[in-house]
Amino acid sequence: MRPVFLFPTRGATTLPLASLSALLLFFTIATVPVSASRGDNLPEFKACVQTCVEKNCLLEPTPVPFHLRLLLWNCPAECDYACQRSVTESRKRHGQSIEQFHGKWPFRRLFGIQEPFSVIFSVLNGYAHYVGLRSLRRELPKNYPLASYYRWFSYFGMFCWFCSAIFHTRDFVFTERMDYFGAGANVMYGLYYTPLRVFRLYRPRFQNAVRLWGYLCLAAYLAHVYYLQFVRWDYTYNMAANVFVGAVTNLLWTYFSIHYYSKLRRFWAAWPGLIVTWLILAMSLELLDFPPLADALDAHALWHAATILPAMWWYRFLIHDSRQTVEHAEDIMRVKS
Ligand SMILES: [Zn+2]
Repeated sequence: MRPVFLFPTRGATTLPLASLSALLLFFTIATVPVSASRGDNLPEFKACVQTCVEKNCLLEPTPVPFHLRLLLWNCPAECDYACQRSVTESRKRHGQSIEQFHGKWPFRRLFGIQEPFSVIFSVLNGYAHYVGLRSLRRELPKNYPLASYYRWFSYFGMFCWFCSAIFHTRDFVFTERMDYFGAGANVMYGLYYTPLRVFRLYRPRFQNAVRLWGYLCLAAYLAHVYYLQFVRWDYTYNMAANVFVGAVTNLLWTYFSIHYYSKLRRFWAAWPGLIVTWLILAMSLELLDFPPLADALDAHALWHAATILPAMWWYRFLIHDSRQTVEHAEDIMRVKS
């Protein structure tokens, strides 16, 4: 899955970054992968798969090694993989272009794992959320009203990256859907909790509005899943929906940074805007979509690598901001009493 966080940042850079977001949205939609690729139609690939299946799967069945069977590789899938590799190696030798197969680059697998780097970076992203959750538990002020919302941010993050790791280990329809739905849930949860902090909706008088907002977000997410699962599996729509929700979220954090930085003149208030900028730049890696370096490291894996540090930085922001908020509220109480 290609998680999407496209958002402008603060101050004078807002407009160029907004334009960059629009441009990225256009290219993202224009370059959404489809399940059939040029490689699938290469005559040498088709012939290779046919011969391999007839020989190794039908005439003289060749057992698939146990560790590969564990990851659900069967004989025809083995043929498909072996032919992708041999066709790619032969094309490289003859100076021909490297082509995608079934919507993906022909990666060299590791212990049966299809995209080892994407798996490693997905696990590290998930771990960043796990470490973040532990620091939230340790460091958030006990009376901070958004504490449970932030913990749920970690749970959504860990779930999303778990699904991503599974999908990049083995690409099936089911694992792909889990990856997309996990990422969708993560992006939607971001939109849910962001206004609670940005507009301080955690104050008791907004309780009903927050509940309503929650139901709205949940309904939108369920409708999104229903559409993809039961009406039409549509990569372009899915990407556009994620970009839209992510862009609104990032605009809200951009507003937060502009507002609090101009008010407080403290560097930490600008962190959300800087993190958003980082993510936009990181996402531009994804758009390059070059053939994998050493048959392993592609732009998508690099994009997953580039989100690890911003996740860690984000937790530092949440904790720092919560402490400032609580101290500020206590100061006000002291002045009043
Ligand atoms: Zn991915």
